[in-house]
Amino acid sequence: MTHYTQLTDNVLRDEEMTREESLSLLQTPDEDLLGLINAAYRIRHRHFGNTVTLQMLFNAKSGACVEDCHYCSQSSISTAPIDRYALVTPDQMLAGARQAAEAKAQRYCVVISGRSPLDREIEEISKAVRQIKDELPIQVCCSLGLLTEPQAKRLKAAGVDRINHNLNTSEAYHASICTTHTFQDRLTTLNNARAAGLELCSGGIVGMGEQDEDIVDLAFSLKDLNPDSIPLNMLHPASGTPLENENNLTPQRCLKIMSMFRFIHPKRELRAAGGREYNLRSLQPLVLYVADSLFVNGYLTTPGQPANEVQQMIQDMGFEVAVNSPACPAYFRLFWPPNGDHPRSVWTKQLLTDLRPYGTLPSRTSADYKP
Ligand code: SF4
Repeated sequence: MTHYTQLTDNVLRDEEMTREESLSLLQTPDEDLLGLINAAYRIRHRHFGNTVTLQMLFNAKSGACVEDCHYCSQSSISTAPIDRYALVTPDQMLAGARQAAEAKAQRYCVVISGRSPLDREIEEISKAVRQIKDELPIQVCCSLGLLTEPQAKRLKAAGVDRINHNLNTSEAYHASICTTHTFQDRLTTLNNARAAGLELCSGGIVGMGEQDEDIVDLAFSLKDLNPDSIPLNMLHPASGTPLENENNLTPQRCLKIMSMFRFIHPKRELRAAGGREYNLRSLQPLVLYVADSLFVNGYLTTPGQPANEVQQMIQDMGFEVAVNSPACPAYFRLFWPPNGDHPRSVWTKQLLTDLRPYGTLPSRTSADYKP
């Protein structure tokens, strides 16, 4: 029995990985990579079958951030040539959500640059989320920087399902990639979001010059946090940022890291996130054996695979998109809207009923929906 087979059996028996075992997976020789991926796939398949959840990002406010995150092209110390704009309108956010639904994304993530959102920004985003939830059977995630508990509660009341806030790296390495806020600040935001009843999405970025031990520490910090979803970004070094020359990831290395996360987080949604196309290159399809979630239509300031190409890759590999499944009646109601015989209020109430088993209901009652 190989090392991976033994560890897989342990994980499938709900035994937890140790740090030493995790480190050994990161240090897998390249010639054993397929064995490692096969082992990770046994775990992935147990909990997610061959389904893939798609997610789409929307950069609702870009650039001009006062923070100094060294990986970020929108930071105060970046000279990267990116678009810079203030918060877009709720209508523009709604239009983005429609694109996400068309792309078969199960979740739409509204992201803004900056240390933390202004009250009026929370208000505008809340307005957009209410419109999105009225119209589309899509989950909404927000990534808005540092949040207080009252801010998180306002977002929850508007219908936001989930907050993204990444731990990014190990606590020990955090000061090497950001000096304007701390690892603890990030944990506080996540705890505030959880206290408000929001789901958590939290992951990290690898390839920023950290050691293997930092990656293991990040994975175990996330285990303590126990988020619903873990996006694992692979640094796509942007010129004009302090990390522009950190180009040390290989496709094999990324697959080993991703596999280690699958062993440590067997039941969590694990997303091959930003930098997927840049770093995995021709090995990209293999990540489906490990991760159960992907972004479509690019990232905040860098392009990525369009949705149709992602869907083709998933189909070619024998996997299937989990979102807007034809088994979900809400999908039919979305694309076959009511005719003149059915007032919108009736259709909306039926849509909410249809969605109930999928757990995507906003925290409001059908009485909130006026004819
Ligand atoms: S807080 Fe967000 S937008 Fe600002 S530099 Fe950091 S990652 Fe970039």
